[in-house]
Amino acid sequence: LAESADAVVVGGGILGAAAALHLREHGLDVLLIERDEIAQGTSSAGAGFIDIWGAGYVPSWDGEELEIEQYGLDFYAALAEGDHDLGYRRNGTLFLATNEDAWSTHLDALASHERVPDKRVVSPAEVEELTGIVRGEAILGGVLHPSGGQVSAPKATRAMAERLLAAGGRIRTRCPATKLLEKGDRIRGVETPSDTIETPVVVLACGAWTNRLLAGIGRWLPMVPLLASRLITEGLGVPATMPTIQIPEFSYIWLRGEEGALLWGCDYEVFPHELLVDADVPERLDQLPLDGVVYTQRVGAQASVVIPLLLRYSSITVAHGAPCFTPDRRGLVGPIPGAEGLYVIAGCNEAGVSHAPGWGRLTAELVAEGAGILTEGSSFALDRFESRYATERDVLDHLSAQGGELHGVV
Ligand SMILES: Cc1cc2nc3c(=O)[nH]c(=O)nc-3n(C[C@H](O)[C@H](O)[C@H](O)COP(=O)(O)OP(=O)(O)OC[C@H]3O[C@@H](n4cnc5c(N)ncnc54)[C@H](O)[C@@H]3O)c2cc1C
Repeated sequence: LAESADAVVVGGGILGAAAALHLREHGLDVLLIERDEIAQGTSSAGAGFIDIWGAGYVPSWDGEELEIEQYGLDFYAALAEGDHDLGYRRNGTLFLATNEDAWSTHLDALASHERVPDKRVVSPAEVEELTGIVRGEAILGGVLHPSGGQVSAPKATRAMAERLLAAGGRIRTRCPATKLLEKGDRIRGVETPSDTIETPVVVLACGAWTNRLLAGIGRWLPMVPLLASRLITEGLGVPATMPTIQIPEFSYIWLRGEEGALLWGCDYEVFPHELLVDADVPERLDQLPLDGVVYTQRVGAQASVVIPLLLRYSSITVAHGAPCFTPDRRGLVGPIPGAEGLYVIAGCNEAGVSHAPGWGRLTAELVAEGAGILTEGSSFALDRFESRYATERDVLDHLSAQGGELHGVV
C-alpha cells in the first residue's frame, strides 16, 4: 500500500518544521520528509537572532512582517517553556553606532519607530554595563529593543520536529522527494526513491533547493541563493546576560554570546557570496571556499575598536548557509497558482528563524482555512512578480541596484 497523508511537507529546515507543526495543530495528518537530517541545510548555520526587524531596521518589513515577527517572539518564548533546549535567551537587541553619521543612517529610524514601545536610547556607559564586552568610549550610544533575543536555529528546528512527533505528526529522514506528482491541475502526491506518497497537499520547504523540485513541473520562483557564514570562537567568557549586538556601520556585523563563546558574522559580497547563483546547489554546504570567512574575520578586526574580544580569540568553527533572497526582500509563502494543493514556504531573505513560526502558521491557515488569519499574507503571495524575472542573476541584479537596503537582519 502506498503511504498517504493529509499534507506532506518537503524539507526539514526551520521553515518546513514550523509549517508541519502548525499544520498538525490545525488537525491535519502531516508527514514531513527530509532528504538528509533535520536542520542540516541553511538552518544549521542560522545565527538565531530574533526581533521586530521591521520596526526601523529592515525598511521593506514594515508591514505584515511586524505581525509575523511578533508571533515568532511569542512562539519561541512558549516553546522554550517546554522541555526543549532551544538556546533561547531574551536579553534584548542592541543596535550601536560610533558616530553621528552612522547614527542618522542606521539608528534614527529604530529610535523613532512606534512598533516597539519599550525601545530606548542607551548611553555608552549603559551599553558597556549591559554587554560586558563593548568599550563605551568607542561608541556614541545605542538603541535597545528589550524584547529581542536569540535561539539556536538548529536546536529550535529540532524542538519543533520533536513537538510535531509528540502531537502525532510523522517524519521521514533520509527521504528525498524526487518528483511532484500532478493529476490535471491538482497535486496528487510526491515520489521518493522507495515509494509514492499520496496526498492532496504538498508544502515545499526546500530552502535553496526549492526551485530544483519545482523545475520538474515546469515552475520557477524568483529568488537567489547567496552564501552567508557564521563564526563561533572558543569560550571567551561572554556574559550569559548579554543582549545580541548589531553594528551596521561595520558591514552590518552581528554578534551574540553562545555558551560563553562569541558568535558573529557580517554581510559580505566577496567570493564565494554569489557562488550558487544560477548554479546547481550542492546537497551539503560544508565544503565551500572560506574567502567570505576570512573577510568576516577582517571586519571583526575592524570592529575590535568597539569589541576588543574580536582580536582575542584563537579558534573558530564555521557554518555556511544559502539563504534565498527575493526581489522585494519579502518571503514566498502560499499556494502556487494553477497547481491546486501545492504550497511553498521559502524566500527567507536571511530571516527564516525570525519568520518561520509566523509563516508556518500562515501556511497552515491558508491550507486549512483557505485564508490567513494572523495576517492575510498578500505581501508573500507567489504570483506578485508575474514574469518579471527569469533567472537568479536577474533577481540579484535587481537587488544590487537597490543598494543600501540589501543587508541581512544579521
Ligand atoms: C550565516 C547565517 C546567519 C543567519 N542568521 C539568522 C538570524 O540571526 N535570524 C534569522 O531570522 N535568520 C537567520 N538566518 C536565516 C535562516 O537561517 C534561514 O532563513 C533558514 O534557516 C532557512 O530555512 P529553510 O527551512 O528555508 O532552509 P534549510 O534549512 O536549507 O532547509 C531546507 C531543507 O530541505 C531539504 N531538502 C532539499 N531538497 C529536498 C528534497 N528534494 N526532498 C527532501 N528534502 C529536501 C534540505 O536537505 C534542507 O534540510 C541566517 C542564515 C545564515 C546562513
